[in-house]
Amino acid sequence: MAITGGCLCGKVRFRVTAEPIAMRLCWCRLCQYLAAGNATVNVVFPSDAITIEGELTDYRSIADSGRVMHRRFCPACGTQLFSAAEERPHLIIVRNGALDDTALLKPGATIWTAQAPEWAWIDDSLPQHAGQPPPVA
Ligand SMILES: [Zn+2]
Ligand SMILES: [Zn+2]
Repeated sequence: MAITGGCLCGKVRFRVTAEPIAMRLCWCRLCQYLAAGNATVNVVFPSDAITIEGELTDYRSIADSGRVMHRRFCPACGTQLFSAAEERPHLIIVRNGALDDTALLKPGATIWTAQAPEWAWIDDSLPQHAGQPPPVA
């Protein structure tokens, strides 16, 4: 099975040939910037299973956890595509909105709920973490 996706303008395309490890919603403050005020929707894959074509811009920052994060997006259309922590190079996070089929998976948890605004809709049927959860892999 291959999972495919890309950015809004089509200049970046990717293909993943592994099953996803996890899917989570993230309400951290930084994600709210990236997701237009909502939570980001993130799918974790093994990084050795992804092939990426096209140019990306890398926004590097230090997370509250102290991790060095790389968030990559299409410089032409601005679509957020990937996130990765330098300390955990075996994993890549793909933004669900960049998948060709955004209904392929369902979220398994909501993280960083402590930073969500009061009006945020958070699914009570999913496990919640106030901050960073333990590593998925
Ligand atoms: Zn693009
Ligand atoms: Zn986040």
